[in-house]
Amino acid sequence: IGPMTTVHPSLQREASGAIVELPAQLAGDARIDGRSPLAERYLLDWGRDRRGSARFIVRPGSVADVQAFVRWCSQSGVAIVVQGGNTGLAGGAISDSSDYAVLSLERLNRIRCVDPLDFTLQADAGAVLQDVKDAAEASDMTFPLALGAQGSCTIGGNVATNAGGINVLRYGMTRDLVLGLETVLPDGTLWNGMNGLRKDNRGYSLKQLMIGSEGTLGVVTGVEVRLSPRPTQVETAYVGLGSFRQACELFRMARHFCSDLLSAFEVIGEECLPLAHLIDPNLRSPLTQQCPVHAIVEVACGPGIDAGGLLETMLARALETDLIKDGVVAQSRSQAAAFWAIREGLVEGQARRGFHVRTDLSVRLSEVPQLIEQARACIVREWPGWTSLAYGHAGDGNIHFNVLPPIGCDPGEARTAGQAVLTSLYEVVGALGGSFSAEHGVGRSRSQVFWAGLSQRERQLHTAIKAAFDPAGLFNPACLMPDPGDF
Ligand code: FAD
Repeated sequence: IGPMTTVHPSLQREASGAIVELPAQLAGDARIDGRSPLAERYLLDWGRDRRGSARFIVRPGSVADVQAFVRWCSQSGVAIVVQGGNTGLAGGAISDSSDYAVLSLERLNRIRCVDPLDFTLQADAGAVLQDVKDAAEASDMTFPLALGAQGSCTIGGNVATNAGGINVLRYGMTRDLVLGLETVLPDGTLWNGMNGLRKDNRGYSLKQLMIGSEGTLGVVTGVEVRLSPRPTQVETAYVGLGSFRQACELFRMARHFCSDLLSAFEVIGEECLPLAHLIDPNLRSPLTQQCPVHAIVEVACGPGIDAGGLLETMLARALETDLIKDGVVAQSRSQAAAFWAIREGLVEGQARRGFHVRTDLSVRLSEVPQLIEQARACIVREWPGWTSLAYGHAGDGNIHFNVLPPIGCDPGEARTAGQAVLTSLYEVVGALGGSFSAEHGVGRSRSQVFWAGLSQRERQLHTAIKAAFDPAGLFNPACLMPDPGDF
């Protein structure tokens, strides 16, 4: 494997067989010892819930270097945890063994090309989502994947987690936006599926298997996405409602009235707002009265349609029928940004508040109100003193139902109880036929619950897919599937 050099003798002793050496190009600042203080940011997750360990962190700067490293790992029996922006919320990017290597994509971060004829963009997998979006905008197009972590998460991480965000309603999840992938497979082979085709029905879709596989089947090194025309009009309203049931009725009305021009529909329980204040005390509701539920409604389109008129007419009807109690349509981009800052501040506000139980539940659209009502009732009944928070992508049936321990609760006790709170919430969503993971994936934190919910046949199929790609089980052990000994 490429030029050889003598590096880190302990490493060679530990690697089984001790005959291969790390590729020379992964020396110097391309490799960080797992015990170094510099390793800290790769070993602590965004929510500070999980602290890991690793033998070392490598940061290859080219696809060839990724291949060389994966081959080295394959020959040496060293397990790999792939990491993008480390914003994942399920612990999938955090190595939990000092025998593992973390493979960070942060230096593989170029936008390769934007093609206005094909409406496509190609990027290295480590490109930050915001940079991908900016590159699309610079060519008068849009890459519509939008999430609170877009300034740090990577397009490869988005692919690996099949990320969602606020515009799924209109454009779909990452799965719907990816045209091609370039992937280094666990034996070091490069699979090039960057063909830019919108329609391709030849055989199984390896691309779709990789999407959402959370680093368990290989390293995504390149991504080709489809772009859309940049909306020239974006109109945003912030409205107040009496209940989540009314919010869901408003969603149905907006969906019929605005059709596919409706680009986002987010709901926020009023009890969540203090979290946004923790981030910025100026983040206040623009409503003139108190309302139990708030919603942000966005309509986006090109020229030739009166988007503002459409949104205002829809909201006027909702006011006439008492569906909404109050509402404001943003008069400027900065006012719209202030509405969104409230929504985005919630995730960070919770992290700042300290330990909290975090979920990303999904049910059928029609069952969103039942989900929230039943989850709230469950917390009141079983966990008195804990505070329920509900917000999220109601237009996709996806609610973040989070729970805060009582103020002053001992952190250790809160964490232990938090597991039981989670189990209660997963039972609620399970009884409604929903999913405990709408968008954050399974990761390490939920592999047991995921596996427990599969049938015997489903487990066999998952195991067979994993073995077909990664027979030695070196890619992200214990992520998505628990270690056999743990189950
Ligand atoms: P990482 O956290 O580094 O990795 C996540 C997983 O992907 C790990 O299992 C890792 O091994 C694997 N992986 C990463 N890169 C690669 C690669 N190149 N090849 C193979 N495997 C890889 N998520 C949503 O879906 N919707 C939201 O609205 C949303 N909002 C968020 C808001 C905030 C404030 C935060 C902190 C997170 C939010 N997330 C959201 C979660 C997170 O941002 C996404 O899961 C994101 O896609 C992770 O990207 P990343 O580059 O940070 O991946």
